[in-house]
Amino acid sequence: MVDKIRRAFDELEAPICSTCNIEMRWTRSTLVAADIINHLFHCPNCSRAGETRSKIEAVMVPPGKLSAPAFKRAA
Ligand SMILES: [Zn+2]
Repeated sequence: MVDKIRRAFDELEAPICSTCNIEMRWTRSTLVAADIINHLFHCPNCSRAGETRSKIEAVMVPPGKLSAPAFKRAA
């Protein structure tokens, strides 16, 4: 589960504050569903909150093949 969040975070782009036009800073990420992570951000200048969501697509592993599952972020 932690690995899922880490992978999603690796490809995460911070939202831009609509007021200051600068990148928001990541605050935390929360798994809100089996395959959806909510990422919370705040603007370091005006403290406006922002968030983005990542959907994780689990790659199906054939039965009997117990290699580590791979995940990729939906486009
Ligand atoms: Zn701002």
